[in-house]
Amino acid sequence: MDPTVPFTDLGAMADEIWPGISEPFRRAISSAEFIGGPAVELFEDDWARFCGVSHAIGVANGTDALQLTLRALGVGPGDEVVVPASTFVATAEAVVLAGATPRFADVDPQTMLITPDSLLAAITPRTQGAIAVHLYGQPADMEELSSTASERGLFLLEDAAQAHGASWRGQLVGSFGDAACFSFYPSKNLGAFGDGGAVVTRDANLARRIRSLADHGRMTGSHHGHSLVGTTSRLDSLQARVLHAKLGRLPVWTEARRAAAARYREGLADLPGLELMGEHVLAHHVYHLFVVRLSERDRVRAELGKAGVQTGVHYALPCHKEMAFAQYALEELPNSEAAATEVLSLPMFPHISRAQVDRVIDLTRSLLTEKAVAGAPAH
Ligand SMILES: *Cc1c(COP(=O)(O)O)cnc(C)c1O
Repeated sequence: MDPTVPFTDLGAMADEIWPGISEPFRRAISSAEFIGGPAVELFEDDWARFCGVSHAIGVANGTDALQLTLRALGVGPGDEVVVPASTFVATAEAVVLAGATPRFADVDPQTMLITPDSLLAAITPRTQGAIAVHLYGQPADMEELSSTASERGLFLLEDAAQAHGASWRGQLVGSFGDAACFSFYPSKNLGAFGDGGAVVTRDANLARRIRSLADHGRMTGSHHGHSLVGTTSRLDSLQARVLHAKLGRLPVWTEARRAAAARYREGLADLPGLELMGEHVLAHHVYHLFVVRLSERDRVRAELGKAGVQTGVHYALPCHKEMAFAQYALEELPNSEAAATEVLSLPMFPHISRAQVDRVIDLTRSLLTEKAVAGAPAH
């Protein structure tokens, strides 16, 4: 058996769908159907229906999805938007790109998700709204966050770039906030053969504004009238075909991720120096990443690497400690800061085999227990 365990395996997913899309790809290329057209509309309809909302707008990537939604909501200079400190930088970056100021909120130490209390602590008179991030594939508590936001008159967006198909109390992410933003970056749970993204919303006016901003500020139904200064941010039709085909496989792939996660959780329970992340009973976690916390993260990571097990760190710094966001770091956020030194993402992808998961478990167990034995006669 090949002892290496890759961090992910995008090729296996591509191989499953390629037979169904190679011929449509060829036809699209020979008829030069690259931008817009029926394939994009079909996927937008698919995606809106999948999320249980009425509108989906395909855009070029997840960062644009966030940025364009903020702009369409009227966010701009002088406004503040609350974002969790533990997230990929794109969440905070989108706020700055929209001209506004990110205010970082700390996260729950068990789940690393933004909570109603951490949101409240970050609100100031300039706050217009907040972005909840469904980090690693686990939804934040959107019921409590929605009521906190609406009591304060704030908009609430979902950054669901890591949580395609996740749900909270049976309701799919993407259907809670004023809008939700997705990335279809290749390694996301639903990933294109390149960049892609989408916004979903129930609000027809917001959908129209986002669509216009993503298409050079064109007025609906007009090729020549430009009512806003927009940009160019489109989901292209080849990517839409890939996503349409992959969406049919997503439920099976999600179940495979969840099965691997359950095996990890069982195999790694009660280990000295390793803490599993909390999984909320009301959350249907889609395990974009399988993250554990290790007191000796760097040592374990190096040893796993030597044994051929590829791992990742998401994220090495909380956003407010990144140089780019230093000017927005107003206070210490202890939970986010502590997590960054301990988190380790283990191999996780739909086609990971039981033997591969077991190999990661066995290696990790022996690394942690050997150390405990070796360290026992302290001197
Ligand atoms: C990937 C990601 C994004 C950005 O998506 P891109 O398509 O890479 O621009 C935003 N937020 C989170 C939480 C992400 O994981």
